[in-house]
Amino acid sequence: MMTSDISAKMKRLATRDQLTGLLNRRGFNEYGERAFSAAKRNDTPLSVIMTDIDRFKYINDKFGHAAGDAALQHFAKLMSEDRRGNDIVARVGGEEFAILLPGTKLSDATDLADELRQKIGASPLALTGAGVTMTSSFGVATISKNDTSLDDMMRRADRALYRSKHAGRNQVDLESSQIVRRPDGSLMPAGST
Ligand code: GH3
Ligand code: MG
Ligand code: MG
Repeated sequence: MMTSDISAKMKRLATRDQLTGLLNRRGFNEYGERAFSAAKRNDTPLSVIMTDIDRFKYINDKFGHAAGDAALQHFAKLMSEDRRGNDIVARVGGEEFAILLPGTKLSDATDLADELRQKIGASPLALTGAGVTMTSSFGVATISKNDTSLDDMMRRADRALYRSKHAGRNQVDLESSQIVRRPDGSLMPAGST
């Protein structure tokens, strides 16, 4: 093997999650920081969807760890199929995933999160004859002019995800300080009136 092939392989191992083939947290941060800088530089939209599978511990406890692994692979496929070429999809924790969406504004990211939420609920995993239905909770955030790093928007997405969990799971929430909801239900960025 050429030295360059070895270093490419090492880099892949360091930035990819073995189980799902998605980027891991390190890979997400690396590509994500680049997307963040580009969005700042060009003043283009950038949004992120964070999601955490609901009651995942129950799947491991009831069906075993190998079934849990299969569930994670199933979930990763549902998250990553049909994504756009420059979307960045990663497994950022045990049963936690992130999708960074360059060029996508908050309202479209929120719509996508809800489509994914519905798709997961409608795609049972074949562990039993009837299949096992999983659900997941979502938090969505978008870049703000005060953000200095990707972390700033990730923190807002995390808080929104936390709110989804606490509001009963299997739902999408947004960072409340960033948006206001119009009377017709549509969303607009806070302070943009
Ligand atoms: P919540 O709805 O609040 O998110 O509940 P939860 O059960 O999903 O959350 P909790 O954090 O209690 O449990 C997450 C579980 O995910 C615990 C951990 O053992 C499991 N897990 C993490 N990584 C893996 C993995 O690689 N394979 C398997 N099978 N399980 C994993
Ligand atoms: Mg969970
Ligand atoms: Mg979790």
